[in-house]
Amino acid sequence: MSTTGVTGEALVDPFGRTVRDLRISVTDRCNFRCTYCMPEEGMVWLDRSDVLTFEEITRFAGICVEHFFVDGIRLTGGEPTVRAHLPILVKQIASLRVPAHAPSAFAGKAPDIALTTNGATLRNVAHELFTAGVSRVNVSLDTLQPEKFLAMTRRDEFHNVIAGIQEAQLAGFHPVKVNAVIERGTNDDEIVDLATFGRENNVEVRFIEFMPLDAEHGWTGSKVVSQDEIVSAIHAVYPLEQMSSRGAAPADRWRYLDGKGTVGVIPSVTQPFCGDCDRVRLTADGQFRTCLFSTTEFDMKVLMRNGASDLEIAAEIRRAVGTKWAGHQIGQVNFIRPVRSMSQIGG
Ligand code: SAM
Ligand code: SF4
Repeated sequence: MSTTGVTGEALVDPFGRTVRDLRISVTDRCNFRCTYCMPEEGMVWLDRSDVLTFEEITRFAGICVEHFFVDGIRLTGGEPTVRAHLPILVKQIASLRVPAHAPSAFAGKAPDIALTTNGATLRNVAHELFTAGVSRVNVSLDTLQPEKFLAMTRRDEFHNVIAGIQEAQLAGFHPVKVNAVIERGTNDDEIVDLATFGRENNVEVRFIEFMPLDAEHGWTGSKVVSQDEIVSAIHAVYPLEQMSSRGAAPADRWRYLDGKGTVGVIPSVTQPFCGDCDRVRLTADGQFRTCLFSTTEFDMKVLMRNGASDLEIAAEIRRAVGTKWAGHQIGQVNFIRPVRSMSQIGG
């Protein structure tokens, strides 16, 4: 019997996809101002009283894990490491258990806990987060040139991010992945350099196509560097072979033929992977979303703060997942940009 008092059920959307992965934004705030994500100034932050407490986050995660067999949780933001005492939240989530009868590799165990971070302070917290129960970490790094790093993030933190990647490896995270958003005219000249960095430092670089989720609305289709372009650029220098199906994971992956690791691309714009999507999201202010690009949110904070039972919250989650659409329509005439930007939703 789970702590929610129910035996559990798979959470299946109208298109037959089973939800297994919950992305939780723990804050909308950030210590960077990446140009493809936030404006330099003027971002309006959530009132702190609207941000879910650790107890609320853990309660919601517990319903997803114990009632709906969700077995993967990724903490994101904003920048998750700016939330004070993050390792305490990690420990709380790590104390949850996927039901023993769940159809999951994690049945009877804690869910897999991952973190997406800009890496600026990772050198200070990597060991503590690993000990608390984070098993995988993705560090965002879009350039290997300190000056361009300053221009892209508006913060002079390049060397700290590199130190954070090294410290994460020492702490035991294996593999550490590096996320690189490629924007035409900005860092598309560094695709091969970033691939080289991955090969030489034993990290899997995952190139991300630029998505229309920047707060300044500077996105245009012409700034997107496609998966095909990225793979061709790397293959010309380091021959690649594609690995078998990605399953529900967002990245398509390739293996270097010389055995020096793997590289991935998240082709959200040119080759959307919505058909295999197993993800749902909880914003820092407790809004439940079934897609990064959803225009509808379901208010779990109000439910929790108004005394709803776990079963009532589970029913609302089920109702929300019942509205999940087949996929986003970036680039098509009927695409509607969500009102909130990437850092407000949780990337
Ligand atoms: N602050 C953390 C970080 O940067 O890793 C976590 C949150 S951030 C919103 C999550 C991921 O979204 C990062 O890898 C970031 O590069 C990516 N991202 C942000 N804006 C994006 C955009 N407009 N298109 C594609 N990826 C974007
Ligand atoms: Fe902050 Fe991450 Fe957005 Fe950059 S991408 S501004 S690090 S939330």
